Amino acid sequence: MSLKEIRQFTAVQLAEKIKHREISVTEGVQASLEQIRDAEPEIHSYVTVEEEGALQQAAEIQKKLDRGELDSILAGVPMAVKDNLCTEGLRTTCSSRILENFVPTYTAEAVLNLQKAGAVILGKTNMDEFAMGSTTETSAFGITRNPWNRDHVPGGSSGGSCAAVAAQECFYALGSDTGGSIRQPGAFCGVTGIKPTYGTVSRYGLIAYGSSLDQIGPIAKDVTDCAAILEMAASWDKKDSTSLNRKDTDFTSGLKNGVKGMKIGIPGDYLGEGLNGEIREAVLAAAKELEKQGALVEEFDLSLVEYAIPAYYVIACAEASSNLARFDGVKYGYRSREYEGLHQMYRKSRSEGFGAEVKRRIMLGSFVLSSGYYDAYYLKALRTKALIKQAFDQAFEKYDVILGPTTPSTAPEIGKSLCDPLKMYLGDIYTVSANLAGLPAMTVPCGLDKKGLPMGLQFMGGCFQEKKILQAAYAFEQNRR
Ligand code: GLN
Repeated sequence: MSLKEIRQFTAVQLAEKIKHREISVTEGVQASLEQIRDAEPEIHSYVTVEEEGALQQAAEIQKKLDRGELDSILAGVPMAVKDNLCTEGLRTTCSSRILENFVPTYTAEAVLNLQKAGAVILGKTNMDEFAMGSTTETSAFGITRNPWNRDHVPGGSSGGSCAAVAAQECFYALGSDTGGSIRQPGAFCGVTGIKPTYGTVSRYGLIAYGSSLDQIGPIAKDVTDCAAILEMAASWDKKDSTSLNRKDTDFTSGLKNGVKGMKIGIPGDYLGEGLNGEIREAVLAAAKELEKQGALVEEFDLSLVEYAIPAYYVIACAEASSNLARFDGVKYGYRSREYEGLHQMYRKSRSEGFGAEVKRRIMLGSFVLSSGYYDAYYLKALRTKALIKQAFDQAFEKYDVILGPTTPSTAPEIGKSLCDPLKMYLGDIYTVSANLAGLPAMTVPCGLDKKGLPMGLQFMGGCFQEKKILQAAYAFEQNRR
């Protein structure tokens, strides 16, 4: 089999072939490495590629497989890790100057779980600096391009992970999602991704952006892969006090149960002003398809939609301003070369180490947390978050799944977004609520627009209802035109 043919497989298919000795682990890795060599000069999905390390891991995993010590549905599959997840001995930058030379001494729990399941790490993927952004243009190490059209962004902040999957530079990747960073670039790159219920995947080793919103999740070629990866990545971890002891993480079971009798709601507010017409049509066509398969689909009014973005940006920035206080040039990371005294060292290290978008958010966050404004902004945002959660809880009493667009538009052209940050923030309208309410949500490709750019369909579920959305997404995927 040629390396090109190997690249066409999904992660689960590749693991199956490896298990039956039709493909070796090394061949799988070489298939990805060949494509990395070809595509990277233009796409730039990766910040760091571990060519030798990957081949070494492949040899070790093959040995384990041969000795019968490894039996997982993903054993031997090469993958990529977003560069905000710590990897022992492998540089982890968050795409920021301030962490340019940071080599962690431990590995994020989610990555470790996948390694135990036989994952081969190819490298670390590019992202918006500290996961703040929607385009992967705020990376300190250069932009990533959309594999579907190189003049367009891949989305963000997990743009590198999504572009790497779309360009076949890996079989799957891990991303993180604070307000849509798995789903939005997933939609823009025509790949599938899921953000699980808050607490499902341990955040230990994930460099924090907004701790109460951050979740790690898989980015892959299809729904089956996402379910398998999430099953392997999820765990109860005492090192993360917000991680949950769930007994229902067998996400691959029930995938094929279909949508007959399932109640699906579409928020009318998600189809109104601001939504690109072609995406609206694609969502309605998907709803028709699911109806044909026996689901009951109806529109309903989801309240508070317009408050999600302001609440999200106040809370995310507040938490970011506190989380990023640790980067001061003392223990690790960048330190300014010339300074007089401690305070100037802090100031210059941070001024030189952080990019403009990160600084904007630290300032905004510090402002909303300051004594005179705390009640007016931060507390109000927390109250709004509680109301949004309530609105979703009520909706999920009635519906199994909420269906809608993942993004209001397809991928913008490179260079068009950062000049108007407020407009860019509004692009998160359909994704941030799942994070505010802690709910699972996923994106599945639902066709191309006139320009040939991918569009994404979003499935949201109630707390712990990953299986329901995977099941609905799978049903849609099987009959996608
Ligand atoms: N675009 C959103 C932001 O900039 C989401 C980012 C994320 O999920 N990490 O905050």
